[in-house]
Amino acid sequence: MPRDRAMVGASETGGADLMSRQTRTLDDRLYDYLLDVSLREPELFGRLREETGRMPMARMQISPEQGQFLALLVELLNARRVLEIGTFTGYSALWLSSALPGSGTLICCDISEEWTDVAQRYWQEAGVAGRIDLRLAPALETLEGLTETGESGKFDLAFIDADKESYVEYYERCLVLLRPGGLIAVDNTLWSGSVADPSDQDTDTRAIRRFNEHVHQDQRVTVSLLPVGDGLTLACKR
Ligand code: CA
Repeated sequence: MPRDRAMVGASETGGADLMSRQTRTLDDRLYDYLLDVSLREPELFGRLREETGRMPMARMQISPEQGQFLALLVELLNARRVLEIGTFTGYSALWLSSALPGSGTLICCDISEEWTDVAQRYWQEAGVAGRIDLRLAPALETLEGLTETGESGKFDLAFIDADKESYVEYYERCLVLLRPGGLIAVDNTLWSGSVADPSDQDTDTRAIRRFNEHVHQDQRVTVSLLPVGDGLTLACKR
C-alpha cells in the first residue's frame, strides 16, 4: 500500500493517529489529572497564587505547572544568572529563584511597587530574597544598563512576561545578555488563540504576532513554541 494510503487509513481508524499529530486540548478533567500526577507546588507558592488570584489583574499570573516547568529549565541549564521581565506579584520568580543554587541571582524587572511588595513578602518567607535583585524601573532601561556595564553574554536564562508591545525589544536586549546556549522563554505567545484570528487587530494581539514572526525568522536561535499555559516560546541562543 502506498505510504499516503496507509496514513489516510490510519487516521480513518480514529483518535490514536490524530493524537500524535496534534497537541491535545486539555479539558478540565484532564488538566486536573495532569496537575494531580505532576505538580509539586510548595504550600507557600500556593498561598501566593491564591492571594494573587483575588487581585483584579489575577490573569497575569502564570499557571503552577508552567512555574514548575520554568524551574526545570533553570535546573537543565545549570543556570546561575537569570533575568525576569515582568515580575507582577512574584510567583514565577519564586519558582525560578528556588531552582537556583544559593549563589545564583535572579534579576527581576518591574515597574509596580504595589505588586512587587506582595512578591517581596513571599520571597522573604521562602528564603530566596537574597538571590533576587529587584529592579523597579522600565525593563528596557535595566537591560540597557546591564549591557553598558559589561554584562553581555553572562546570563543563562531570561523569562519575558510583560507588556506585549515591547516583546521584540525585550527579546533583542535579552539575547545580547545571554550566553550561547542560554534560553529565552516568552509567555502568552498564543494569546488565548487571538493570534490566529485575522479579525482580531487589537494592539497586543498584533504585537504578539509580530514577535512570533520575528523569532520564527531569527536564525540566531533555535525555537519552539509550546502550548503550555497561554503559549510559551523557547528560543535558545546559538
Ligand atoms: Ca503572562
